Amino acid sequence: MQKKSVNQIDVVLVGAGIMSATLATLLHELNPQLKIHIYEKLPACGQESSEVLNNAGTGHAGNCELNYTPEKNGLIDISKAVSINEMFELSLQFWSYIVKKNKTIKPQAFISKSSHASFVWDKKNVEFLKKRFNKIKEQPLFKGITFTDNYEEIKKKFPLLIRGRKKLDDIALTNYENGTDVNFGNLTNILISQLKKQNSFKLHLNEPIQKITKIKDGYFIKSKTGTRLTKFIFLGAGGNSIKILQSLKIKESFGYGGFPISGKWLICNNKNIVKQHQGKVYSQAETGAPPMSVPHLDIRKIGNQDSLLFGPFAGFTFKFLKNGSFFDFPKSIKLTNFKEILSVCIKNLNLVNYLFKQIILTHEKRMHHLRKFYPNAKSNDWKLIDAGQRVQIIKPSKGFSGKLEFGTEIIYDDKKTLAALLGASPGASVSAASMLEIIEKCFAHEIPNFNNKIRRIFPSYQIELNKQPKKLEIIRKNYRRLLKLS
Ligand SMILES: Cc1cc2nc3c(=O)[nH]c(=O)nc-3n(C[C@H](O)[C@H](O)[C@H](O)COP(=O)(O)OP(=O)(O)OC[C@H]3O[C@@H](n4cnc5c(N)ncnc54)[C@H](O)[C@@H]3O)c2cc1C
Repeated sequence: MQKKSVNQIDVVLVGAGIMSATLATLLHELNPQLKIHIYEKLPACGQESSEVLNNAGTGHAGNCELNYTPEKNGLIDISKAVSINEMFELSLQFWSYIVKKNKTIKPQAFISKSSHASFVWDKKNVEFLKKRFNKIKEQPLFKGITFTDNYEEIKKKFPLLIRGRKKLDDIALTNYENGTDVNFGNLTNILISQLKKQNSFKLHLNEPIQKITKIKDGYFIKSKTGTRLTKFIFLGAGGNSIKILQSLKIKESFGYGGFPISGKWLICNNKNIVKQHQGKVYSQAETGAPPMSVPHLDIRKIGNQDSLLFGPFAGFTFKFLKNGSFFDFPKSIKLTNFKEILSVCIKNLNLVNYLFKQIILTHEKRMHHLRKFYPNAKSNDWKLIDAGQRVQIIKPSKGFSGKLEFGTEIIYDDKKTLAALLGASPGASVSAASMLEIIEKCFAHEIPNFNNKIRRIFPSYQIELNKQPKKLEIIRKNYRRLLKLS
């Protein structure tokens, strides 16, 4: 009786960031009858990590991120770079499908072509970059990547990196011209504005989910406008997902916790400087720095204005969202994850030390880091702004300990009626692949019906493009044309 008196929904998504926007769009494309509601606690969509200046906007594809190709015993392992590239291909296919279907969407509003370069300035790293390049250039996915250790060539492409540099030997750069800069905030809003045209969709702004109660065949969700019943729930609440998951006491989440790390950028809006740096240049993380602190100097296209960002610099905060509470972290320590959190804190004293050093950096010290990339950088051209909030995953590991993860992970309940996305990197870039995984697992019984449509949206679905260069070329040509990336 009670069930009939409440409003029934098929799918509820908590949070209106890029993940929920992607999952809601995909589910609507696959089954337009599904009643889908998104709940967002803020007055607008895409305002947390997905917002343009809260992240670096790199379309992560392994072209320039040196932490995706670690060196072990002298050998470079490129498997992570290849798999992230394959996943990013799915995002590009999905975005081009949306653009093709909705002629009013201008791809330039959310994606642009941007060189992805890796730059190093010491002998050891030059050797590493050369080895990485020799391995990666053979892969069809990375076709076109170039290497140079000639400073004149580097200067021609990225003058800021070379002018004023004292030591011009032992420097090297790889460059991939077909990289991308993505405005995930705009993309979130574009996807949700398309959904809003559908009767089967509803967006609830300023409406945080207050309580979720598990029942036999679904969940009751409570917000300020009442209680509704849903068959499936996605926690796309960014850093808050771990908190909501804990409140549900799902056994699959026991032992999990969150380790918040805030970010800061140096930003430069001086047009004369910005126009001299057309791309995204990554380097190696400093010794002791966590992988998400890999420094980079990026061009960002925000509306009609181009800016340069450098960072991220890390900081420690107790908040799980930029608009979160200082009690988020302390309140997330429970009996079910206490030993994991404690063991992560003990095992990662280097990280704690690194974070402490980052917090106390002065503007000049930050400029010192920037000058390793851009030797002539002037302090008054740059100012410090806040980036988004990352909540790294603490998860159970062998014995009684926990480990800190820097990736993205999806947690499911036993019946696959709930999925929660945790972690940050490579995050938004692989949103299509992550959300497709949720559909495969939680809507498995529907996959035979969805199959044809999935293949229309994702021509490379279940195909390793790196092993099919001809298909890769055709698919790339198509989406580059649609997304105006040629
Ligand atoms: C410094 C930094 C740099 C990054 N750089 C990159 C990059 O270069 N490339 C890349 O691909 N990724 C990058 N990322 C990661 C990327 O930003 C994230 O993976 C992505 O934005 C996460 O999207 P989301 O939808 O999960 O979360 P979010 O965008 O954070 O959205 C979560 C939403 O949930 C809402 N919410 C929370 N609690 C509730 C509740 N109880 N009820 C209702 N709503 C709620 C929040 O208000 C928010 O709007 C970066 C992240 C950071 C922090």
